[in-house]
Amino acid sequence: MAEASEQKRVTVVGAGWAGLGATYHLAQQGYAVTLLEAGPYPGGLVAGWKTSQGNSVEGGIHGFWYPYSNIFALVRQLGLNPFTPFTRSSQYSPAGLEAESPIFQDLPRLPTPLGTFLYTKFQRLPLIDRLSALPLLYAVVDFDNSDEAWQRYDKVTARELFKDFGVSARLYQESFEPMLLVGLFAPGEQCSAAAALGMLYYFILSHQPDFDVVWCRGTVGEMIFKPWVESIEKAGGRVLTNQRVQEILIDSDGKARGVVTNDQTFPSDAVVFAINVSGMKQLVRHSSTLQSSQEFQNLMNLGGIDALATRLWFDRKVNIPHPSNACFGFSPTTGSTFFDLNALQDEYRDAPGTVVEADFYHGNQLLSLSDAAIVSMVQDKLATCVPDFREAKVIDSSIIRVSQGVTHFFPGSYQYLLPAQTGFPNVFLSGDWIITRHGSWSQEKAYVTGLEAANLVIDYLGEGEKAGIIPVEPDEPHIELARNINQSIRDFSKIVPDFWLP
Ligand SMILES: Cc1cc2nc3c(=O)[nH]c(=O)nc-3n(C[C@H](O)[C@H](O)[C@H](O)COP(=O)(O)OP(=O)(O)OC[C@H]3O[C@@H](n4cnc5c(N)ncnc54)[C@H](O)[C@@H]3O)c2cc1C
Repeated sequence: MAEASEQKRVTVVGAGWAGLGATYHLAQQGYAVTLLEAGPYPGGLVAGWKTSQGNSVEGGIHGFWYPYSNIFALVRQLGLNPFTPFTRSSQYSPAGLEAESPIFQDLPRLPTPLGTFLYTKFQRLPLIDRLSALPLLYAVVDFDNSDEAWQRYDKVTARELFKDFGVSARLYQESFEPMLLVGLFAPGEQCSAAAALGMLYYFILSHQPDFDVVWCRGTVGEMIFKPWVESIEKAGGRVLTNQRVQEILIDSDGKARGVVTNDQTFPSDAVVFAINVSGMKQLVRHSSTLQSSQEFQNLMNLGGIDALATRLWFDRKVNIPHPSNACFGFSPTTGSTFFDLNALQDEYRDAPGTVVEADFYHGNQLLSLSDAAIVSMVQDKLATCVPDFREAKVIDSSIIRVSQGVTHFFPGSYQYLLPAQTGFPNVFLSGDWIITRHGSWSQEKAYVTGLEAANLVIDYLGEGEKAGIIPVEPDEPHIELARNINQSIRDFSKIVPDFWLP
């Protein structure tokens, strides 16, 4: 590769999964890569840190689902062993335990989606309600993650989609909507039907084991990002924190030549933005260059969602049946989960009391509450699910408010989402909100789009090998057949001019 003086300079902005992914690959290919992060730690939404009392906390606990093949491959490549075994999970409502999920990969494999519906142990939901999901299979087959499919389904709300396909009220309220609140962080009437179909297919419906999940045995920050940053630095990359990018410099032929933070300019032959939606909007507000571009003006239409991550230390051991748990029915528009950290994280395995993480998604109304009010609300909720929490005393707590942190895939948002290649020839985008045909979501999507952006840099600057990206597992044969038949019918119907709204 080129000597240091001839090395091409790449600036990556934002140190979450996307930015670290792009930086690591480009540093390994011999580029002089600088990763600029506005916050005090790398990790983005997944960053973890220690409180002044020395307790580990993070902005929401993060699961790694069975199809996260690229992240699992990275972790193996880094020689790390950060994950728990696959865990079972439960679902609670104010009435108590509602459903328990097995470890799906341990059970005989059935053609999708039979395993998901037959192996999940529902306590109360009648079979007739579960069967009402069958007609929805047409939409699952029809939505193939193509641009056309997004155009067809994005302007419809997820709630309308489920209603139109005859899903029963109970199945929607007790199964689909809780999944939307946890997977897309918003209630069905505020989610794009396209995003709902894409997310549900990736995490639950495409193959029986997809819903199986592992967790980090400590914070992702300590167990993955810290050693990953060390590997980036060993490969020659620089990771600089407390560096908020405010502007991008463009030369007379429209190419980026550098980015500007509060007090420094970083000359660049290519730039990768790996910033979340609310960070991008803040950047556009500061940057006259980006304001001059239609696509960046348009992204001001996008939005973020509030989340709340709480961690409570109790004075005694409380038996929580499964380590990971989702809740529904406690609030009409907020989803929540809680986790037994004594079972999941090494640091708390032998703690004398119980340590619980309880996270809330689309929790706008919660962010303004005082810490004391939040702690009392969380304990009350935990006690509804697991009554022994009522008598336990909270001896310590951590409350993290993630304002506008996660992407809102609202109906009609697809038209404002951006692809990796921007109108500036050497400026690329990555992150969990970027349009990609890979099919993954959340952390895996963020990491994959980071690699895709790195590959575009390599195409543009012409040096190094592209990152290998593991595709999602192919559709099962019966789904593939149904998709082919459906596509043929769609192709045939194209001979008639479009008359109806897509
Ligand atoms: C409570 C909660 C729970 C979640 N649970 C899960 C889960 O269980 N599993 C899962 O897969 N996903 C989960 N997610 C989603 C997951 O965190 C995200 O999909 C993923 O982390 C996004 O990564 P990213 O790299 O795209 O963006 P981010 O992690 O948001 O990183 C963007 C970075 O850019 C930085 N930045 C912004 N503006 C600037 C600027 N001007 N200059 C420099 N830096 C800037 C930010 O500080 C940030 O560090 C959860 C999210 C939350 C909030």
